[in-house]
Amino acid sequence: MTWKLTKSELDNENLLINESLLSLGNGYLGVRGNFEEGYKPGFSSIRGTYINAFHDNVEITYGEKLYGFPDKQQKILNLIDGQEIQIHIDDEQFSMFDGEVLSYERNLHLDLGYAERIVHWKSPKGKEVNIHFKRLVSFTRKELFAIDVKIIPLYDVQQIKILSLVNGDVSNFVDKEDPRVASGHAKRLHVSKVRQQDEFSIVKNTTYATKLEVVCAASTSITSENHEYKSEQTENGIEESYVYSSNGPIQFTKYNVYTDTLRHGKTVVEKAIDLQKQLRSVFFEDLLREQKQYLDDFWKTSDVEIDGDAKIQEGIRFNLFHLLQSVGKDPASNIAAKGLSGEGYEGHYFWDTEIYIFPVFLMTNPKIAKNLLLHRYSILDSARERANTLGHEKGALFPWRTITGAESSAFFPAGTAQYHISADIAYSYIQYYLVTKDDEFLKAYGAEVLFETARLWADTGHMKDGKFRIDDVTGPDEYTCIVNNNYYTNAMAKHNLLWAAKVHQWFKEQDSAGLRQLQDRLELTESEVKDWQDAGENMYLPYDETYKISAQDDSFLQKARWDLKRTPKEKFPLLLNYHPLTLYRYQVCKQADTVLAHFLLEDGQDLETIKNSYDYYEQITTHDSSLSSCVHSIMASKLGYEEKAYDYFIETATLDLENTHKNTKDGLHMANMGGTWLGIVYGFAGLRVKEEGLSLAPSLPKEWNSYTFHMQYQGRLIRVNITRESVSYLLVEGDGLTILHHTKPVHLEQGNEVLVS
Ligand code: BGC
Repeated sequence: MTWKLTKSELDNENLLINESLLSLGNGYLGVRGNFEEGYKPGFSSIRGTYINAFHDNVEITYGEKLYGFPDKQQKILNLIDGQEIQIHIDDEQFSMFDGEVLSYERNLHLDLGYAERIVHWKSPKGKEVNIHFKRLVSFTRKELFAIDVKIIPLYDVQQIKILSLVNGDVSNFVDKEDPRVASGHAKRLHVSKVRQQDEFSIVKNTTYATKLEVVCAASTSITSENHEYKSEQTENGIEESYVYSSNGPIQFTKYNVYTDTLRHGKTVVEKAIDLQKQLRSVFFEDLLREQKQYLDDFWKTSDVEIDGDAKIQEGIRFNLFHLLQSVGKDPASNIAAKGLSGEGYEGHYFWDTEIYIFPVFLMTNPKIAKNLLLHRYSILDSARERANTLGHEKGALFPWRTITGAESSAFFPAGTAQYHISADIAYSYIQYYLVTKDDEFLKAYGAEVLFETARLWADTGHMKDGKFRIDDVTGPDEYTCIVNNNYYTNAMAKHNLLWAAKVHQWFKEQDSAGLRQLQDRLELTESEVKDWQDAGENMYLPYDETYKISAQDDSFLQKARWDLKRTPKEKFPLLLNYHPLTLYRYQVCKQADTVLAHFLLEDGQDLETIKNSYDYYEQITTHDSSLSSCVHSIMASKLGYEEKAYDYFIETATLDLENTHKNTKDGLHMANMGGTWLGIVYGFAGLRVKEEGLSLAPSLPKEWNSYTFHMQYQGRLIRVNITRESVSYLLVEGDGLTILHHTKPVHLEQGNEVLVS
């Protein structure tokens, strides 16, 4: 049970949500869980196929455009539709909305890597048939999306007709009322080629502005000699038909191969044909085997086993599976806020990657984590340019939202002003180093990112009365914008600055010639490095004496408090019901801000301040952002608030499964999905990765009997099992090491399980 998600709703709202929940992907290609044959008129669907990073640029229209506002926005595009299959049984067309659905079930197999729809259908004329759809987006052949349909007539059928379409006339979803999805520019690509070559149906689309090209080449097959085949080219696509004129079951398979100019260069058509040719000797069953093999490997290091709560067991696996499906695995791509499961936030990459998703892969699958860092490195030049536009002579300011590096946020108070993203990226490079000890990577990529981001802070802030201050930025809480000395930003910048200076020193000792080369390229002086150290050491971190808490920023605690208890339910999320200025005038948080800083940099404050701050900010936090409840769960665990920790965790783990934010139809919330894993491993198990090494402080929610997870650390694989009686640590692979268990050293040697109580 716990390896699959099962759905059987047929109402419009749930169908839309299920399109996201049952979406398939592999980090490159993503396909929403639409019905092959479509819905009945009157039902809405976001029919979608996406390639990570495949985008067009659209104009941003401002009433008043000021200096440095981006004039274009990148936008992920819905691509050529290869999903469509129509089935005619004798003279009746199969539809889930006509006749009678005698039984129906959809499953997403988290261990097997495919989705299926099993239907027992009675036609309006009373003829019965079983239809079994299976579909997969291959993890090992990234361009491939395959569909397999078995049709088993339960009466003496005369003829089955199957129509299979590739349709290039596609556009994006828009909603003018919701700022979290696009409000315009629905159609951004046109059909530039339709061709039948060899036995393949080929449709090519070209984007309006970026002139990127995408190809879908489809091949189809049927398990019978006894049929008529026809193929017809239309203006926008190709329609193939098979007419099968004898009784008995039939199996139809469709292989859609997608290529694009970002990954495959100019010869997109030829490449798609090559890939199709490689599939000639491959059966759908072979693909299923490959999926299972890939996933066996994935789950070996990534699974979290929970004994005592089947629903949450399913939830954590579901979340991890979707993260794997969405995360980019080539340096041209990262992971979008909604992954490849929908169009919300337009396929943009945010800080969600570094703070919520990267740590999951870092601890379970460091190769994927490394790729995320390489993607950020690949946009460093754009970040330098952006810093320059923002008036900084030196340094790199990473875009708040982007695909290939250009800032795509139009609302700068909650966009560009979130300078903290640059420190968040630096933080992830540091974490990567701590977990992998990859010196070469630090020298080749990390050092440069740390130096360039440190330069940004040195240039943004200023020294006043002996303290380094950073003015006019926005922290993670988007209900409080453009403030002086946001605690989160200052704390993260401090970390960034001090680590940049430390890495500089380390580099000098390790490889002074290499450092000199980098310094020459960056025109970096020793006095700059000294300034980083000074700024870091003297960073101002606002503190409030009255409440004995870290102040969110210089003015936050002077404002009136928003009364959340008296705010009507229907007014949430506040961002859809109040003007931003109204929100800015109050102490009210969209999401964890200071509390998050206390998690990421817990040694920056004493425990009393951390606890008081949690108690304070919790009262005024709406969790209107899906990035919030997991942080509150983690910190509640740290502070021993067991019940709260569990409640926030459940909120996190079920957010998409229960559509609690009411926008799962626009795609799954990737950061929150990462947050589910963080809530277990960093929350309940209390993992921290610091310079001194690994430490855990495990606790067991009273609702569970036990839980088990693995983590990778400096070439080792460690299994942690937490039961009511004890905690066991097993070093599965790698050299011996000492970790801290509730501050007590525990030594691990390969193969020896260590039990502690
Ligand atoms: C949150 C941001 C987040 C973005 C994308 C917003 O609602 O406030 O922190 O980066 O969603 O997930």
